[in-house]
Amino acid sequence: MKTALVTGIYGQDGAYLAEHLLKQGYRVVGAARRSAANGDSRLVELGIENEVEIKSIELTETSNVAQLIKQLQPDEIYNLGAQSFVAESFSCPEYTANVDALAVLRILEAIRAFCPGTRFYQASTSEMFGKVQTVPQTETTPFYPRSPYGVAKLFGHWSTVNYRESYGMFATSGILFNHESPLRGAEFVTRKITKTLAQIKHGKATVLQLGNLDAKRDWGFAGDYVVGMWLMMQASVADDFVLATGKTHTVRQFVLAAATVCGFDLEWTGKGTEEKALDRKTGKTIVAVNPEYYRPAEVDLLIGDPGKAKAKLGWQSTVTFEQLSEMMMIADLRRTANK
Ligand code: NDP
Ligand code: GDP
Repeated sequence: MKTALVTGIYGQDGAYLAEHLLKQGYRVVGAARRSAANGDSRLVELGIENEVEIKSIELTETSNVAQLIKQLQPDEIYNLGAQSFVAESFSCPEYTANVDALAVLRILEAIRAFCPGTRFYQASTSEMFGKVQTVPQTETTPFYPRSPYGVAKLFGHWSTVNYRESYGMFATSGILFNHESPLRGAEFVTRKITKTLAQIKHGKATVLQLGNLDAKRDWGFAGDYVVGMWLMMQASVADDFVLATGKTHTVRQFVLAAATVCGFDLEWTGKGTEEKALDRKTGKTIVAVNPEYYRPAEVDLLIGDPGKAKAKLGWQSTVTFEQLSEMMMIADLRRTANK
């Protein structure tokens, strides 16, 4: 039986990846902070909380990371742990660099010292493309990060490539475009939209306040993307792979799709900070722009080309934008109704 160590086990991807690895017959050891924000609630939602062994990890502590890897000698390590919220990285840039950049080096060094045969997956991101240099973005598109998060992740990405090339380690970097689900953190825009619209529907909130409605993202379903991570780790050689849907939509389009599922009939008025959407049925304003949610530097457009992953791994996303927004909206309507 193979042993996989998954950092960030209590996050969205940690939960879905653990579920997938368990189905493949792995022993799954999940590493989480003792003070984890949401505890094992996502594992509980998937009904796998008793099947994953939990170990304590703090990614900012070199000796703590090294000891765990030395003791466990895992076959595969998936490094999903991160300060993953772009907006937060502007207010905590040093902390973000410590967790998202330096921790990658800590893990790679521990593998090199204690278990050089261990396969390593680094959770890289389309945020590294930032101010995009080509459309769509591929594995060879030049990087131009636009946030401390993107910059830190770029360090992690290049460290992964460098340890692969310098020491012959199996170190693979998955450059994943935005992927969402009912388990997505509530601070990210898709989940913020579905959660708040559900609250409005049930009279528990009045207005959904958002920032830049024009930003375009290539949104896929997290359940598909964890399968891609695993496939990368089963390949004969370590490499870099983009996982994406190849389609892009604006934040406004996601609002519209989710609101329609929710039964709202939106009418948009105004421009920029004055833009609003009201529900034609009630005349009430449902969506408003709040510049508080604008970022110091924005990533305007992301659209990935998953061609290499399809050709070499046989991977492709299976959930459309419409199915994703509907799945998330229905889950939040159900949760809010049950509260
Ligand atoms: P989440 O934020 O849901 O999960 C990240 C996890 O990392 C959290 O459980 C968090 O713990 C943990 N973590 C944070 N800081 C530390 C630390 N100092 N020590 C140990 N653990 C820590 O992210 P996702 O599951 O969505 O993403 C998984 C990975 O993929 C991340 O690295 C993210 O940056 C990357 N990624 C995600 C994309 C997406 O669209 N979802 C796109 C591309 C890349 P806690 O619960 O305690 O906060
Ligand atoms: P990101 O792509 O990793 O930054 O994922 P997010 O879901 O946090 O943001 C996606 C896009 O939505 C970004 O361009 C944000 O500027 C935009 N956006 C607009 N309003 C909001 C908001 O209220 N919250 C968040 N998180 N993003 C918003």
